[in-house]
Amino acid sequence: MKRIAVLTSGGDAPGMNAAIRSVVRVGIAEGLEVYGVEQGYAGLIAGRFVPMTVRSVGGIIGLGGTVLGSARCPEFRTEEGRRKAIEQMQAHGIDGLVVIGGGGSQTGSLLLHRMGFPVAGVASTIDNDLYGFDLTLGVDTALNTALESLDRIRSTASSHHRAFLVEVMGRDCGYLALMTALAGGAEVVVVPEVDVDPDAVARELREAYERGKSHAIVVVAEGARYNAAAMAEHFRERRDEVGFELRMTVLGHVQRGGTPTAFDRLLGTRAGAMAVKLLVEGRHGHIAGWLEGKVQALPLEEVVGKKRPLEPDLLSLAEVLAQ
Ligand code: ATP
Repeated sequence: MKRIAVLTSGGDAPGMNAAIRSVVRVGIAEGLEVYGVEQGYAGLIAGRFVPMTVRSVGGIIGLGGTVLGSARCPEFRTEEGRRKAIEQMQAHGIDGLVVIGGGGSQTGSLLLHRMGFPVAGVASTIDNDLYGFDLTLGVDTALNTALESLDRIRSTASSHHRAFLVEVMGRDCGYLALMTALAGGAEVVVVPEVDVDPDAVARELREAYERGKSHAIVVVAEGARYNAAAMAEHFRERRDEVGFELRMTVLGHVQRGGTPTAFDRLLGTRAGAMAVKLLVEGRHGHIAGWLEGKVQALPLEEVVGKKRPLEPDLLSLAEVLAQ
């Protein structure tokens, strides 16, 4: 292997830049030429390759987002799109690709691998929905960001004796919501993995109100059947059942931005380095991520297409702690 490329794809995640930096510098140290691909798979199909040097990744380790840009690319879902991507890489003499991204991006990467192109992945998404790994790149920062917002919301909720519906990201995975609720001391958590009846949520809020709580926080995952807006709408005509006056905050993209935590910088750095080694050592079609207290590689075939389960113990713990 002489020349590799690296791209970031799907939703950006804090720590992606640390991973890019690591891929570039470790790749060069391994005697490879490294190219960056702009705008994910869209850039791959369009041949947007930029030669990277040790200097071109200087000063980025602490930056949120991704200096290469990211995109969602419908064309890459087609076989023709993926063939074009491989042709572009072959035309540029690229013989290995590192894909930094989440479940969708790694599905695309696996399909390239099945077409015979050498790939390696870095498990990266704030949703933490990748099967097989304990933590993906960006989750730690997103969780800390959500918590900081929750703490701020709690102080205003308490002053006004209000209940707040706080919606966090995570797509179909309730991990971020559950951990935000646990670490933030929320009264109720609503996740997609459990079909929650909004009237049951209303009852829990009412009970909290009657117990004399000065506020109540409901953390709602964006992918839940009743997201924050749907829940607020449901409660609009039922204020008496809830007890508290109700407000809603959707945290949205603030959770994706910002300076990566020490954990995400280190995870990006170590997983990026491992991805390069996987390519160099011929362990193609693997993905690096955080598992059982260290960075490990798993075959993409084992990771892609499966749903990451939510720890049921932690759900019951959140309920017990919300007294
Ligand atoms: P995140 O969940 O953090 O947003 P992700 O990588 O899961 O990250 P997606 O939007 O699901 O984000 O996927 C990113 C890109 O990966 C898509 O725009 C598409 O180009 C490619 N992709 C996704 N699913 C597939 C698929 N089934 N086959 C081929 N390519 C895919």
